[in-house]
Formats: sequence, C-alpha cells, structure tokens
Amino acid sequence: MKSETPSRRGLILINTGPGKGKTTAAMGTALRAVGCGMKVLMLQFIKGSWHYGELDAVEALGGNFAGNFVIKQMGRGFVKVGGAEADPEDLRLVQSAWDEAREAINSGEWDMVVLDEINYAISYKMLDPAVVAETLRSKPEMVHVILTGRNAHPLLVELADTVTEMREVKHAYQRGILAQKGIEY
Ligand code: ATP
Ligand code: MG
Repeated sequence: MKSETPSRRGLILINTGPGKGKTTAAMGTALRAVGCGMKVLMLQFIKGSWHYGELDAVEALGGNFAGNFVIKQMGRGFVKVGGAEADPEDLRLVQSAWDEAREAINSGEWDMVVLDEINYAISYKMLDPAVVAETLRSKPEMVHVILTGRNAHPLLVELADTVTEMREVKHAYQRGILAQKGIEY
C-alpha cells in the first residue's frame, strides 16, 4: 500500500438514498483512485445474475491497470423481500461476501474496498450492522471503504466521514422505460 503524503488518511464513504447513482458514483471514485495508482477491490453483495458493463470495462482496462481494479459479484442477484424469511442460500452468500470484505479491508493489499449494496444486505437483516461497524472502526488507517445501497444504517452513517444521499427527482422507470444497457447495467 502506498502512503505518499502525511495528510493522506483512509476515509469511510456511504452512497445511499432512493435516487439513482449510488453504485456508479462508487465506480467513478474507484476509477479515479485506480488512476492515482491505487489498488481497488469492489465486492458486489446481492448482485450476481446480471452481467454488468463494468465487469467488461475493468477487464478492458487491462494493461497497466491489470489487477489494480477487481470487481467480484458475490451474490446471485435476487433476494426475497417483504415479510418472508431470507433464503438460507442468500444468507450464506452474504456471510461469505462479508468474510471476504473484512479480510480484504484488513489485508493491506487494497487501498480502497467498495462494498456495493452492503446497505441493502444490512437493511434486510442479513448482516449485523454492529459487526460491520466494528470492522470499520478498527480498519487499517489508510484504507478507504465505500458502502453503497439504500437505507444506510444509522450506526454506519455516524461512523462514516462522507455520506451522500441520492434524491430521486424522477426516473425513466416510472414511465415504464425498462433498464437500459450502459445506463443501468
Ligand atoms: P446505479 O447502479 O445506476 O448507480 P444505484 O446503485 O443508485 O444505481 P440501486 O438501488 O443499486 O441503484 O438499484 C439498482 C438498479 O435499479 C439500477 O439498475 C438502477 O439504475 C435502478 N434504479 C436506481 N434508482 C432507481 C429508481 N429510483 N427507480 C427505478 N430504478 C432505479
Ligand atoms: Mg446500486
């Protein structure tokens, strides 16, 4: 890990709220960091069934960036919502995503770790916010961590340095326009 300037310190960022742009903003920050010579790991909780454009973009970067920007889908893309108990398989996937996340944060191998949709896993009670908070509190000082997803837990919001809430002004989906390639995935 590189720590060139004394003022450099690892931050905790949260992108939350109902509007569009949480994951893609994290992706933009990741790209900026990679451009600064940092190593970034993005772990996508929940996601898995759709093939997102960013997976290919990261691969296409290759060259000098090879291995400096890694995105891993850790879920299967669909989680039952509303009333029903979480499927044990989804719980297992979230747990293993979290195990990998904690290990990556503490490993010293990554300058930035993005936990995409982790807020969603927490708000559906598949992951204990206190456990996540404890890892963030004791993380190596220099590592940046970004958490995305709606309904960020208050415990994590309090702990974070920078929190952005995306507000929905309008969304094409409300007019029946389906998810568009390059915009939504
Ligand atoms: P993006 O990945 O585009 O940055 P996001 O991370 O803010 O979006 P999520 O809550 O993760 O949004 O939702 C995932 C999917 O739902 C994305 O395809 C996204 O474009 C779409 N989406 C986001 N916000 C809305 C909305 N307000 N209404 C309908 N669909 C939305
Ligand atoms: Mg998202």
